Amino acid sequence: MDIKKLVKPNVLKLKAYQAGEIPCKVKLDANESPYGFRVNNVPTNKYPDPEAKELRKLFARGLKVRAENVLHGNGSDELIYNLIMTFGGPVLYPTPTFSMYGIIAQALGEKFTGVSLDENFDLDMNGMNKQMIKSKPKLIFLSSPNNPTGNSFSSERILQIIQRSKGMVVIDEAYQQFSSRKSFIPLLNKHKNLVILRTLSKIGLAGIRTGFIIANNDIINEVNKVRLPFNLNSLSQKVAIDKLKKTRELKSRISKIISERKRLFNEMSKMDGIRPFPSDANFILFRVNNPDKIYRGLLKRGVLIRNMKAFAGGCLRVTVGTPAENNIFIKNLVQLV
Ligand code: PMP
Repeated sequence: MDIKKLVKPNVLKLKAYQAGEIPCKVKLDANESPYGFRVNNVPTNKYPDPEAKELRKLFARGLKVRAENVLHGNGSDELIYNLIMTFGGPVLYPTPTFSMYGIIAQALGEKFTGVSLDENFDLDMNGMNKQMIKSKPKLIFLSSPNNPTGNSFSSERILQIIQRSKGMVVIDEAYQQFSSRKSFIPLLNKHKNLVILRTLSKIGLAGIRTGFIIANNDIINEVNKVRLPFNLNSLSQKVAIDKLKKTRELKSRISKIISERKRLFNEMSKMDGIRPFPSDANFILFRVNNPDKIYRGLLKRGVLIRNMKAFAGGCLRVTVGTPAENNIFIKNLVQLV
């Protein structure tokens, strides 16, 4: 597959911004102020490393990929934006899913289509195939595990889409660490139109807005042209580097969330009038008879969850919290159903 044929002509003609970094003793080339502050030992008066070299290297090492196959974003939101800017529409995704795929496509004036998931919240291959033929999407976004349903899509179906698509297929693995399924990263060697999206937001670092694309070089090079030069600030880079090194702590926190997810699921399964759906993510979608009433009742008791009343016969979505937070949620939910 020739990736260049898929890139929007205006992006193809672009050259990536080169913020040249020349080693020196006195740096007077970038109109920075000589008077800054040091926050967590990061100088605030200098521009951040435009290429986030150290961070990309560290992140890549953790995934056993090469740093040149990783591109950094100000959250993965920004990378979704950059991908749509690079390839353009039509954009295709199953629904319901993460809303930003459609919102960003719309914001950039590109066409977008959603295909409803099947009754098991898996990809509806008939619908997806039809749309792939009809609208010839340049970009397909598959969030697996999927937000808000929580399940992973069948790997065979994802693979079929990658194989059949004449455009790019982005597997958004925002919730991968909570999933029992394998990542699609090892398939990057085989499929030239595959892009993997990751974020640090779900493992305790949402506040530093750090996400990544993992893809083949020719894709990274094109997307890099539309990326703003200093998109990831110095403090975020520093904090991400420091925290990614704490692998044991990160892993144990993820295990805790997974075990709390299981406990929440079991507790909720026992309640009359509640149907929790199995989840591979850090949240649980559940169906209730009166979502509005339960949503408002919980809120009155100080517990905020997400109202998804329009979906699958009336659903709510709860994020897995600490054991204490989950206990409060369960205690109040029992009283409301
Ligand atoms: N992808 C999915 C599937 C998400 O659910 C989210 C966040 N809710 C994102 C991407 C965006 O994450 P980030 O904070 O990295 O922008």
